[in-house]
Amino acid sequence: MALIKKADLDKMNQTIISGDLQINYEFLDEESLENEAEFTDVITKSFAIYKGLFGGNPRDTLDATYTDFTIKVSKTKDSGGEADPKSIMFNWSENSTLGYGSWKSVLMHELFHLWNGETIRYKNGEEHWFNEGFSEFYTFQTAVRMGIVSPEEMLSTSALSLGYYTGSKGLGNISMRNAGVDDITKFENFFLVYHGGWITAMVLDIDIRSRTNNGKSLDDLMKWLYANFLRSEKLYDTNDIINGIKITTGLDYTEFFNKYIFGTEAIPVATYFDPGKALWDYKWNDEKKAAHKFYYQTLGIGITGVVN
Ligand SMILES: [Zn+2]
Repeated sequence: MALIKKADLDKMNQTIISGDLQINYEFLDEESLENEAEFTDVITKSFAIYKGLFGGNPRDTLDATYTDFTIKVSKTKDSGGEADPKSIMFNWSENSTLGYGSWKSVLMHELFHLWNGETIRYKNGEEHWFNEGFSEFYTFQTAVRMGIVSPEEMLSTSALSLGYYTGSKGLGNISMRNAGVDDITKFENFFLVYHGGWITAMVLDIDIRSRTNNGKSLDDLMKWLYANFLRSEKLYDTNDIINGIKITTGLDYTEFFNKYIFGTEAIPVATYFDPGKALWDYKWNDEKKAAHKFYYQTLGIGITGVVN
């Protein structure tokens, strides 16, 4: 057994304070320790955006807000992680994940779970389409806003996500809710749960923005959930999501949910957005960009210079 000097051990545990945020790092290897500044940069920037989105700091199991959490970091073959209240396990790698994801988007996904999943909490696994899909949606929207993912990469990412959803073998056979019910079906139907949920978020956000002329979006739902679902008192399910959208935007998606979330029908995504055309116009057709403005906004892409 190798002996580790106390000084080395202390070095592996570091507390970083940035504004009112306190990050307690436990680095499990030297390379992770060396990368601290980069982790801290991603965490502090996305934490601030998430806090603004939900309208407050994450809360623990007793519903007390906090601004400090522990993160165990190790370098591994591929990136991955897990979140619990006040705590994140984070494995990072230089390898990309599916598409344009990286350790940064994995870290941001786990950080998002401090709110979505650990502050507001699902009743059971049937809500993983929302828990995982909406976490991916906001992770990537935030990554674009932070400049981690470029607009072109994001437009391609949404097309990939759409392909993973429409190509998932469970689509048409099992509902998005049933697909996440336990760890076995969740893993078997990974793309239906994660990418189905992500596509649902894109479609709903675009539709809400276009029907309210950008007055409302899914952001209003997230704030409503944060304000109304104290984990120790009330867990959410899909009917609460339908309700929350109705209350915050005035729009009724009951039929949509019955078909595509409770039911096994595939969402007719082409009636909401066209990733190929939107990318084409973004790159080469400036005057046509305005036609995709809600889609761009949904993905976190600013369209400065475009006349609405
Ligand atoms: Zn997750």
